[in-house]
Formats: sequence, C-alpha cells, structure tokens
Amino acid sequence: MAKGFNVLFVTSEVFPYSKTGGLADISNSLPQALNSLGNDVRIVTPKYGQLDERKLQIHEIKRLKDLKINANGKETKFSIKSSFIHGKNTKAQMYLLENQDYFKNKGIYQNSKTKKDFPNNDERYIFFCKAAIEILEILQWKPDVIHCNDWQTGLIPAFIKTVYNNNDYLKNIKTLFTIHNLAYQGNFPKSMFAKTGLPESVLTDKGGLHFGQFSFLKTALNFADKISTVSEKYSEEIRSDKDFGCGLEDVLNARKKDLTGILNGIDYSIWNPVVDKLIPYRYTYQEIPLKYENKRELLEKYKMIYDEEIPLLGIISRLVDQKGFDLIEKILPQLMKEDIKLIILGDGEEKYQKFLKKAEKKYKNKLAVEIGFDETLAHQIEAASDMFLMPSKYEPCGLNQMYSLRYGTVPIVRNTGGLADTIVDYRKPNGNGFLFNKYDSDELLKIIQTALNMFKNDKAKWNKLLRQGMSLDFSWKVSAKKYMKLYKTVSGSK
Ligand code: ADP
Repeated sequence: MAKGFNVLFVTSEVFPYSKTGGLADISNSLPQALNSLGNDVRIVTPKYGQLDERKLQIHEIKRLKDLKINANGKETKFSIKSSFIHGKNTKAQMYLLENQDYFKNKGIYQNSKTKKDFPNNDERYIFFCKAAIEILEILQWKPDVIHCNDWQTGLIPAFIKTVYNNNDYLKNIKTLFTIHNLAYQGNFPKSMFAKTGLPESVLTDKGGLHFGQFSFLKTALNFADKISTVSEKYSEEIRSDKDFGCGLEDVLNARKKDLTGILNGIDYSIWNPVVDKLIPYRYTYQEIPLKYENKRELLEKYKMIYDEEIPLLGIISRLVDQKGFDLIEKILPQLMKEDIKLIILGDGEEKYQKFLKKAEKKYKNKLAVEIGFDETLAHQIEAASDMFLMPSKYEPCGLNQMYSLRYGTVPIVRNTGGLADTIVDYRKPNGNGFLFNKYDSDELLKIIQTALNMFKNDKAKWNKLLRQGMSLDFSWKVSAKKYMKLYKTVSGSK
C-alpha cells in the first residue's frame, strides 16, 4: 500500500455532533474511510454550545486549554478538546474548538433561540479558519493537505498563502477546497473585510470581491491549490450553466484544470436496513415483507390505514427552494387525488412549513408532515416508504437517493447533479429509479404517475427495480481512493 497522507479535514458539521445536512454525514464517513486506507485524517470542527461533552465523549486535554489567538482584531482564548468518531473497525481523531466569544450559544449557523442566522457568522468562521491553522503548530502535527469544506472554511487557503507565508511550519501546506453546495457562499458586506486581517489584495476580483461583497467561497476558489465538488455532473453544471454557477462560473472556468468531481459515498454501517438500529424491522433484499412491517408501523404511528398495495411516498429534506418544494406545492392537489400516502419530514423556511402544515390538515389520512430535524424518523421513513421524492432544482450530490436505493425505496428524482450520476432510468436494463428532466410541475406529476402505475400494475418489474437498487454499492470504496489520488496531486508528493 502506498504511504498514506496526513490530512486536516476542516468542517463546520460532523455527525453525530452537529448536523444540518449531508456535509455532516460526509465529515463522519469520509475521514474514517480514508483512515482505513492507511491515511491519518484528523477532523477539526467548532464545539457548538449544544454539544453534550459526556454523551459525545468529548475530553479536555490540559496542555490544550486556554490557548490564545488573535482573530477579528482582538485576542481571544480557546481550547482544543478531543473526541473520536468510531465505526466498527475505523476511527478518526476529532479536534473540537471551544471558544466563549463565538461558539458559546446553541445553534450551528442559526441561533437555536431566535431561529435566525447568528449576526456574527463572519467573525465566527474567521476565528474558526485561523484557529484551524494555528492549532497545527500547537499540536506539532503537520498535514500534507488541509482539506477545507464549504464557505465556513473558505479563508484557510488565503490565510496560508498570505498571513502565514512567513511561518516556516505552515507556509508550504497545500489546500484542497470541496464545494458541497455552491449556493451557500458566505457573502458579507465588504466593510467587514478588515476583520479578516488578510491583505487588501484579497479584496479584489482575483480574491474574494463578489458583486460588491466579500465572499468566503470566492476567496477559496481563487486561493485553494485544488478544488473538488461532490459529483461529476455538478462539477460540469457549475462551470457551464449560469443557473448552477451562482455568479461564480467564470472563476470556476478559469480554474477548470484544477476542478474535479468525486461522488460522495455512503456509510453502510449507519444507512443500511440490515443493521439499522433505528428501524423496527431490519431486512435484507430477500426479506421485503419485513420492509412492509416498517411501513405498517410508521403509517399506524400517523394514524393512517395500512395497505400493502397503496404506495407510501416519503420525503426527508431541508425545506428550501433548492429541494423543489415549489413544484410539490403546485402538484399537491392532484397528487392527493391518487391512491397514495405521503410522509414528509423537513426543517427550514417558514413559508414551506406553513404550507405543509396547512396541507396536512386538508389531506388528513393521506398526508403526514413532521417539521423538525429527526434522525430516527429519517431512518424510519427510508425503511417504510415505497418511493422517495427528490425533485431538486439542483443537487450537488444528494445522499437520500442513495440511502433510498439501499432501503428498497425507489427514488423519483430530477435529472441533475449527483441525482443524475446515481439514478438510472427505469426503462434501462440496469434501471433503479425514475427521472424527470425539466424543472416543471407537470413533468414531476407525470413521472410520479408513471411510478405509481408500475407499482400497481407491474409488480414483477417494480420488484426488479427495487432489488437492482438494493444491490448497488455506493460505499466509499471507490471515492475514497479518488480522494487519495487527489491528495497526491495537491501535495505534489509521494
Ligand atoms: P443536503 O446536504 O443538501 O441537505 P443531502 O441529501 O446531501 O442534502 O443530505 C441530507 C442529509 O440530511 C441526509 O442525511 C438526510 O437524511 C438529512 N436530513 C435532511 N433533513 C432532515 C430532517 N428534517 N430530519 C432528519 N434528517 C434530515
């Protein structure tokens, strides 16, 4: 085996410590997969106010307590706490940064009390970026690559190349920046730029100046040694189509040779109906009747009548425009005329919460809506549903369609990004789901009706589709090796 890499994996979310979406799952599973290939990948993440040290086994280390750092133009104290994420035979070291000025309150990006974005998110993540770099000398552990993820880590490449370029310990460390979602850019009024401590040259179009604002994400795209994103299709879409590029398509095109797409993998020790402890009945692909027991139990929980022949559709999602809720809103009256049940779990924008709660009252016995973030229920919906709806406007990778495949829950998705890279049209010999092309409510309704028709009238075909999906392998095996190759190119060594 080739010698492994030392990698500092910097991320604002890690399951089970903090999670708003797919980034948390990836930050848990990718470092472990890489470590099982002989690398030393260590994670650094904020210790948000809600984290329970005892439950999550977060430990204090005496010599890493009450450290000092200059961030946002002032000195602040912080501590590095330690924890490990574990798989069956894998683990990864976690460094959690504790700080009273920036991460004391409960909430990840939004204050849990006010449900609004923290007003000092710029300062919170300036501190995070600087601290993630400065801990390296304190720990006396030097990575070959700092692997940054999303805008919250976006200033790290620029800091390394400017502020720390006189520091012998840090100056040659290479950076990889992974885009998990280009639409979240960390754009702030440029008056805050001075707080970063970066040289003025960074506040230009060749740095982070973005339509008159200062952008953490654009800064990363200009300064990182290499850039990746989480599916091949999305890496093309964001360069070639204005609707996907979010105003950054020119920057991405200029860096075309440094940009790659690597599909996210799934951790089958967590998302797998054979071993899933969060579902009432575990099952293999030879035990589909047990899947129906999960369906029965979930429907009963929501006081809906169970009938194996009536399809249950599931949705688990952030309630944001990206995920296609405007299409769902448009088709719901017609969809509710079909002989189906629909369960939706989601958290996010108030306009969608309101619409869904109202719809739930109107379509009693057919529609159940759960607003909030509920990991257990997410697993139960995957296990219970016959079909999974994901009509995203864009989708960098998407995890739920891959989880659905493994749970025998046939995905109905829009043909975009990672959905296009994982779901194969039901008419093909290796088909595993249903795709629609145009972002259009009629197209969505039509493809759902096609799926319902097959479920009702062609069970043999349906079961074949379901089994083909269940037998696919989207584990990290392949993708983790691709990251290793990328680390090799980034570090220019080994
Ligand atoms: P994104 O990262 O854009 O939200 P992904 O499909 O990549 O989308 O990942 C979403 C992850 O978040 C999945 O693990 C999904 O189960 C989870 N998730 C999303 N919304 C909820 C919710 N309301 N409750 C529990 N889990 C959720």
